Amino acid sequence: MAGIVLRDLVKEFGSFAAVKGIDLEIHDGEFLILVGPSGCGKTTTLNMISGLVEPTGGDIVIGERVVTHTEAGERGLGMVFQDLALFPHMTVFDNIAFGLRVKNVDAGEIRRRVEEAAEAMHIAPLLDKRPGECSGGEAQRVALARTIVTNPSVYLMDEPLSSLDAKLRVDMRTELKHLHEQLGGTFVYVTHDQAEAMTMADRIAVMNAGRIEQVGGPLEIYRRPASHFVAGFFGIPTMNFLDGAVEAADGAMEFRGAGLTAPLDASVDSGLAGREAVLGVRSEHVLVVDADAPGATPATVSLIEPLGDATLLFFDHGGPRRMVAKVDPDLPVAAGDAIHVALDTGNIHLFDAEQGGRLN
Ligand code: ATP
Repeated sequence: MAGIVLRDLVKEFGSFAAVKGIDLEIHDGEFLILVGPSGCGKTTTLNMISGLVEPTGGDIVIGERVVTHTEAGERGLGMVFQDLALFPHMTVFDNIAFGLRVKNVDAGEIRRRVEEAAEAMHIAPLLDKRPGECSGGEAQRVALARTIVTNPSVYLMDEPLSSLDAKLRVDMRTELKHLHEQLGGTFVYVTHDQAEAMTMADRIAVMNAGRIEQVGGPLEIYRRPASHFVAGFFGIPTMNFLDGAVEAADGAMEFRGAGLTAPLDASVDSGLAGREAVLGVRSEHVLVVDADAPGATPATVSLIEPLGDATLLFFDHGGPRRMVAKVDPDLPVAAGDAIHVALDTGNIHLFDAEQGGRLN
């Protein structure tokens, strides 16, 4: 097993900086997910770890070794890509065995290891088939087995589930998490899908425009996003955002935005008074309240979306953007109803209006 350290890692393609100085410590045995929107530099970062892309600056340490300029084949890594790159003319057995044959492992040992990996990935009955005769999910497991069999200390995975249908993706998430527990190796996994990141990762590194904006456990990132960008990237529906300013009022602090004033809790620094800010609040922290409740704001229900276990209630409150509350499915409301809403004071996020960094 091996941990990975990235130090001030940079990749420039000509004058374009795809990765702008990343510092990241990936612990030995950890499932770390690099997540971010298309083009933010995730694959480039992973490819620098694997040795497929040469860094312009900085260092990569795997285990005890500085490998920044070491050949990919000498880094002891296992890789699984979106394009599975299985050999179509070979059986599943031969596909899985390929990496071992290249290393001249003896035939008995190859059979033992291939069968063990096929067992772990639930594809033992498929060993005589060819990849073209496997379903998408089965082919994905063949690709994983092919990697497992070489017994790497680090697994690098680039969007390995993206070609699967929605249902299979969800099933494979559980399987990958289970596989990580079973194998105990270090997993570094790239995806643009926040749900994959939330459900599988021990820790998530959120990338934006070539930089890491936050590293933390899934709940930490969800509950205490370090920036406006991270707050908006995680969570369905997307967090509500309101432009406005933090103000002092009667010895307390409040946020004043278009159509809505929200009391802020005592943890908000009085030094923020007068500061332009963006308020963020998740739908589950927008409450439907009585007209005389503290911070009650009049609103009109514009749309109801029942999810089954909860209902999304979209409303207009006089601000420029429609907001959404996640409410009890039995709440008797319909489009057009007049309601009052208030924000859960303990779950309000404040971000700098210009730079987007967290203020509270
Ligand atoms: P996606 O989810 O779309 O794969 P990503 O976050 O993995 O995105 P990268 O593939 O790392 O993004 O690319 C980061 C940026 O670097 C992009 O703007 C991309 O166009 C650019 N880039 C990547 N490889 C090259 C290259 N070989 N030459 C020039 N620019 C490149």
